Amino acid sequence: MNELKLKQNLKKITIFFVIISFLIFAFGAVASYSLGQVFRDTMYQQINAQAVEYKNSINRKVQSGLQTLYALNSLMSFSEYIQPEVFENALYESNNQSVFFRMVYFNNDKTGIRVTTNGDIERNIKLEDINENIQKSIKEAWDGKTSISDVYYDDGIEQNVIAYAVPVKKDNQIEGVIAASQSINIFTPIVDTKGILSDNGIVMLVDKNGKLLTGSTNFSSKNIENINDLKLIDDKTKDKIILSASNLKQSNITLKINKSLCYAIVEPVGISDWSLVVIDNATGVNKSMYQNMHITRVTSIIPLALAIICIFCGYRQIKKSNDNLLKLAYYDSLTGAYNMEKFNMLLNEAWNKEDKKSAVVAIDIKQFKFVNEIFGEDMANKLLCHIKTIIDKNINKDEFFCRENADLFFIFMREDEQQKIVDRINCLIAQINNIILNKHQQYPISIYCGAAFTSDFTGEKQQFMTRVMFALNRAKLSCKNNNIRFYDLELHKTEQMQNYIESHMQEALNSEEFKLFLQPKIKLEDGKLYGAEALVRWVTSDNKMIFPDQFIPLFEENGFCTKLDLYMVEKACKYLRRWIDKGYEPINISVNQSKLLFYKENYVESLCKIIKKYSIPPSLITLEILEGLALNNVNQLNDKIKKLKEQGFKISMDDFGSGYSSLNTLGNLDIDELKLDKTFLMIASNTDGYRQKLIMEQIIVLAKKMNMYTVAEGVETKENEQMIKQLGCDFGQGYYYSKPISAKEFEKIYMRERKKHE
Ligand code: C2E
Ligand code: MG
Ligand code: MG
Repeated sequence: MNELKLKQNLKKITIFFVIISFLIFAFGAVASYSLGQVFRDTMYQQINAQAVEYKNSINRKVQSGLQTLYALNSLMSFSEYIQPEVFENALYESNNQSVFFRMVYFNNDKTGIRVTTNGDIERNIKLEDINENIQKSIKEAWDGKTSISDVYYDDGIEQNVIAYAVPVKKDNQIEGVIAASQSINIFTPIVDTKGILSDNGIVMLVDKNGKLLTGSTNFSSKNIENINDLKLIDDKTKDKIILSASNLKQSNITLKINKSLCYAIVEPVGISDWSLVVIDNATGVNKSMYQNMHITRVTSIIPLALAIICIFCGYRQIKKSNDNLLKLAYYDSLTGAYNMEKFNMLLNEAWNKEDKKSAVVAIDIKQFKFVNEIFGEDMANKLLCHIKTIIDKNINKDEFFCRENADLFFIFMREDEQQKIVDRINCLIAQINNIILNKHQQYPISIYCGAAFTSDFTGEKQQFMTRVMFALNRAKLSCKNNNIRFYDLELHKTEQMQNYIESHMQEALNSEEFKLFLQPKIKLEDGKLYGAEALVRWVTSDNKMIFPDQFIPLFEENGFCTKLDLYMVEKACKYLRRWIDKGYEPINISVNQSKLLFYKENYVESLCKIIKKYSIPPSLITLEILEGLALNNVNQLNDKIKKLKEQGFKISMDDFGSGYSSLNTLGNLDIDELKLDKTFLMIASNTDGYRQKLIMEQIIVLAKKMNMYTVAEGVETKENEQMIKQLGCDFGQGYYYSKPISAKEFEKIYMRERKKHE
């Protein structure tokens, strides 16, 4: 899975969790809101029912007052004239029922009689002499209506009162008006009844201006004349209540009193401009219901909150594992550096927005295997982490790097000059060498690098990294320490050649483009031909000659060497057979054998098969192996050598002294011949090569003691020949005698004269 996909997945998961959490939250909010709504509706219904109850009671009270007047009215309808005694009596009766405290009767000539509960009787009073509120009602009664006055203050009893007025009719003619007044306080017991209200419930009877007519006794009514005087309620709510009262409209209002939630109902009474204002708090009437609602809310919020917490935890877990996956996918677990996949992605991005010349540098440690074996895996890992830290410190903000595998690192550098890169790499190497692998001894870490500039490259991006690797491999081949090789034109040609070689090798083998060349091996004692070394030359179809240095290392890498070497053995045998058949005395031919062959299954059998095919005595074939082969496993190599020698082949050790020569290995191997590398002779023949000469001499002595012939390679001059002769060497090989020549030419020059005379 790539980074983009992982990030997209995480995005999807995030969206999913956000939606789920939101839905749960929304569900919780809706459920909680609905619960609140249900509770509020119930509260309003209950308070409203109570308000209607008050309203009905007040109406009944008013009706009963009117009823009394009607009764009096009918009484008077039958009398000739109004007698004060009748009034007095009626008032007395009414007073006994706490209904009226003053009563008046006006006849058509607008004179009247007034009776008060204390027994005062006033006759011939004028309409203008009485309170204008009653006047208004009396006038309405004269118009034939039953009338109830506005509330007014009666100085006599020092109370708010209301008055009723009814017309007195005789034969359907209005004969007069009877009116009576009573204290508004007669409604106090009604509004003071708690009913279903809680103790905190407030009931007020107000007029359209919010003026308090009467109210329940549980709030201080002393200084309160108007709703506006109530300190418990905020101004906004007061305005709402007064507005409702003035419009005589029923309304429900939610408010806060002392921070607790309350509900208010304004209910028009239907009498004059009166409205009832009933207020109760939520915890009052429906305390248990309110508590239940709270419990329900809390109990439903807890699982919701738990669900959201669980989802959050799950999300975090998924995010964490996603991050881990990203780490696994893009980071090297040992050093914490990016891995190759991430590096390629970053390289791609950098490539697309390339504005400056940049390069990729591959860094590899020389002999890392050795570090691993000598210092142990832990120390080797420590070294890799150390390198990571050093690179990290030394790269710029817009640069990046990765560890590909083992000891191979790639760095993307924004540099446009080779020298700058060389300087930076040298600085890096110096810092890397600060690590102490061994307490007793400083082990120098040698590094080789390959680099390529991105701007020099126009092909497919993937192929770019093969250029870097190619440059790295070339740096590896060089013997220089801390070598950095840039991919340039020369390397490009080499790479092209390698590509050609790899793509044509099989075809070339089939069409016999690999030619057998021979270089004579001269016996120094008598200067006669002793044998020859088979050296391959690739002659392409267009007659170009490719030398083994160009393709043998590559074939050793890709394994093709095993085929080629056996092919060369066969070619040598073919010529030997031809020479034997022609009656030439055969010579020994040395064939180079690559390392891989020695580990190949049925190697000995394959050789024997060839020998048999051409009926060649195996003693005519010397197999040249490289000393490096013995480094890995002497016993295994000795087993193979033993088998080959049993078959009759001769074994020679090639290029002795060129690599990590060890006399110890030499002593352990059962070989017939030792070929001293040409560098030996080169150095020994210098004027200051005295020591080398001494070593060479001792090696020859040693070889002889171990029953080995010695061959000196690279004999180029007469002096060279004299020197090796003097050192006791058995054979010489080199340009002094002949360059490698084609087998046919060799036959012409050397073999024909070896024809046996019958
Ligand atoms: P080698 O086996 O050590 O072969 C000797 C090399 O030294 C040959 O190079 C030869 O041409 C060169 N040489 C001979 N005399 C002189 C001299 O006087 N001065 C100098 N400077 N060089 C001299 P060549 O033919 O280019 O082969 C190079 C190497 O390639 C061989 O080194 C051998 O390791 C490998 N090689 C050649 N043919 C084969 C083959 O068929 N199979 C395998 N596996 N390797 C081969
Ligand atoms: Mg050789
Ligand atoms: Mg050699």
